Amino acid sequence: MRHTHENNTLSASMIGETVTLKGFVQKKRDLGNLVFIDLRDFSGVAQLAFYSDNPFKNITTNIKSEFVLEATGTVVERSSKNPELPTGDVEVDVTDLKVLATAKQPPMLIKDDTDALEDTRLKYRYLDLRRPVLRDMIKMRHETIKATRDYLNAQAFLDIDTPILTKSTPEGARDYIVPSRIQKGSFYALPQSPQLFKQLLMIGGFEKYYQIAKCFRDEDLRSDRQPEFTQIDIEMAFVEEKDVQTMSEGLIKHIMKETRGIDIKTPFPRLSYDDALRLYGTDKPDMRFGMPIRNLSDVFASTDFKVFKSVLENGGSLQGLLVEATHGALSRKDIDKLTDTVKPYGAKGLAFVKKSADGFSGSVAKFLSDSEKDALTAFMSEGDVLLIVADTLKVCRASLGHLRNVLGDKLGLIDPDQFDFHWVVHWPMFEYNEDEKRYQALHHPFTRPIDEDKDKLESEPENVYTYGYDLVAQGQELGGGSMRNHNVNVQTKVFDALGLDKKTQESRFGFLSEALEYGAPPHGGIAFGLERLVMMLAKTKNIRDVIAFPKTASATCLLTDAPSEIGDTQLSDLGIRVTDES
Ligand code: ASP
Repeated sequence: MRHTHENNTLSASMIGETVTLKGFVQKKRDLGNLVFIDLRDFSGVAQLAFYSDNPFKNITTNIKSEFVLEATGTVVERSSKNPELPTGDVEVDVTDLKVLATAKQPPMLIKDDTDALEDTRLKYRYLDLRRPVLRDMIKMRHETIKATRDYLNAQAFLDIDTPILTKSTPEGARDYIVPSRIQKGSFYALPQSPQLFKQLLMIGGFEKYYQIAKCFRDEDLRSDRQPEFTQIDIEMAFVEEKDVQTMSEGLIKHIMKETRGIDIKTPFPRLSYDDALRLYGTDKPDMRFGMPIRNLSDVFASTDFKVFKSVLENGGSLQGLLVEATHGALSRKDIDKLTDTVKPYGAKGLAFVKKSADGFSGSVAKFLSDSEKDALTAFMSEGDVLLIVADTLKVCRASLGHLRNVLGDKLGLIDPDQFDFHWVVHWPMFEYNEDEKRYQALHHPFTRPIDEDKDKLESEPENVYTYGYDLVAQGQELGGGSMRNHNVNVQTKVFDALGLDKKTQESRFGFLSEALEYGAPPHGGIAFGLERLVMMLAKTKNIRDVIAFPKTASATCLLTDAPSEIGDTQLSDLGIRVTDES
């Protein structure tokens, strides 16, 4: 028999009933003539009571934290109630007790505010998972997946899984590689996404596909990245970008309602990629507050300030953020600290001007001409501070984009409970990689250029825009997608522009190009990062909180010790020799 009741369902209305509960010992309090045990199951905690004449009271002497118990007894009213606990009005007067398992002393405190280091939590993840906060975040993940499936199933999407042992699908990261034993010297790649297979499904006549798909990317990890992660991957045939966006809005609306009970407004606002960069310095702007970036190159076009002058003469730019007096005051010390936050983004410094009752102060003030003062007065009021970066446009945007987020946090301009879903649309096809001196795809190479720009693929690739879109909320990219190249000639031109020679095109993507020659419907789709979505819903900044068995920042699993060495026999089966050279 399982239990008769979940622990957290006990209430005053059940007084007098006999119940059987099962669970882990959260805490034992031995008051001499009275012993209490808090018993935790998946649902919550109930109190077991052993009064002085209870024959089972003796057994409790040996019971320690995390022992697994089965207790039968009568629900009785507590003499001192605990309003903090949902079951705090009652306790169980135990009439039968079984120890189902003993437990070693746990190496960590099993409670929400544990002081355990994350490494300990990851090594003993099964103990960590017993903490209600973590349980609730994993539950939120389940609820998100359930809401997704319910919504997409109801719209006649088919859930189709695609191979894990496959060929490289370029999404901008390194591949995880699996050696083949049967074809020695050949390797599978784990999918960075199901991109090519979902396109092949459209070519195969399926019109609405989805999958809760595992993706693998070998890249430098950050707090919101894991080497293996999950996408809600979707593709549709005979659609335009608006159709995919409308379907996505419905999906997100449904997820928000089912998981958090929040009604959100659709359609979501749209912002072009170029405007996002121009106004917010990033392709994933936090729209919960204003403070757009201001272009100040015109204001300072004839400046005498040497630093500004030389930047402008060298083709650079002057951009700034206006911190209005109503946002809060910034001290000299604050500005010094903010300067440190922009340096990693390439900015050499942060100049500033403050408007006060009797004019301007700050590092740039003494260089201001009358006309510059007039231009600044046009948008600055008393107490406002203008923070300025002078550098290449790219550095200005990257550093001010970051600074804007820092200021939003610091000045309390961000409502953490606001959901600012919006689309960033009209993405460029390529970005130029200065280090490698070549173009690379900004989304991925299968993205379809807008019809008007197709002819520029050879002549001016930097000016080719696409039917590409990202869904952004709270300064995070939640998902991205596009229309795809269903015309083989356009796809080939994109490969050419990426500098892939014909041989490479054939060996890497020949199967796709061939498939496109057998009649491909116009198609497009999107993929949402499941973990990012759940992090937002569960209000955590740590991706590991929403994955039952995550990896560390160095891509290891502390619980199982993966990755680990393999034996010589396995290596020789694979025809692989490990050397010390790196
Ligand atoms: N496969 C893409 C990605 O992983 C998403 C898409 O274009 O559907 O970002």
